Amino acid sequence: MPKFSFDLHMHSCLSPCGGEDNTPNNLAGMCALAGLDIVALTDHNAVGNCGAFCRAAERYGLLALPGMELTSAEEVHIVCLFPGLAEAERFGALVRDRLPPIKNKRDIYGPQILMDEDDNVLGEEDLFYAGATTVSAYEAAALAAACGGLAYPAHIDRPSFSLLANLGLWDPDMGFPLAEASRNCPTDLFDRPDLKGVPHVTACDAHYLDQIPDAHQYMELPERTPQAALDWLRRGCR
Ligand SMILES: [Zn+2]
Ligand SMILES: [Zn+2]
Repeated sequence: MPKFSFDLHMHSCLSPCGGEDNTPNNLAGMCALAGLDIVALTDHNAVGNCGAFCRAAERYGLLALPGMELTSAEEVHIVCLFPGLAEAERFGALVRDRLPPIKNKRDIYGPQILMDEDDNVLGEEDLFYAGATTVSAYEAAALAAACGGLAYPAHIDRPSFSLLANLGLWDPDMGFPLAEASRNCPTDLFDRPDLKGVPHVTACDAHYLDQIPDAHQYMELPERTPQAALDWLRRGCR
């Protein structure tokens, strides 16, 4: 079966903490240069640049999944991935309704820029997207699944905004089929009793273009389609 390199967690200029050079087209171009085959855009609580990123990635011969990095009510970051734009936008609308009505302070947090695939600025989001939603970590997997997608906790080894830091342990009742760890995650983390046997991937979580690493992890798929990639993750990276 063919093997495809992947990285499924990165941010565009729609994330207030994302670099302004992280335009959808720049990001897709850097992913192609890095030798990645399957990528995903996961801005904080927002999907507004996913269409532009997916179209730009297609021009570079990549498969891009539309996604989001959800901030749960417990301030746990959760990667959510979808088979298509319609599904991602449905999820995006649900999450938007679960954000507090706080405006972004662009001078403090940075701008939230919407772009097309040719890097034309389409506007700015003024609702502050990077804060906590009211979606519980126990609700996230079911909410993503209801929109045809998949959710799993991001960078679980990090000291902040992570499942282990904020909730203390991996609880199978959350329904996550896998975990994401940082690339420099200690190798013995998954020897912990609660994490034994939990499938995991790594991700760059790039907020700047120079944080996209060269291809280093692969999924074996019968075909390079969004559904095949999501099914591989759902099966626990098999
Ligand atoms: Zn995060
Ligand atoms: Zn992130």
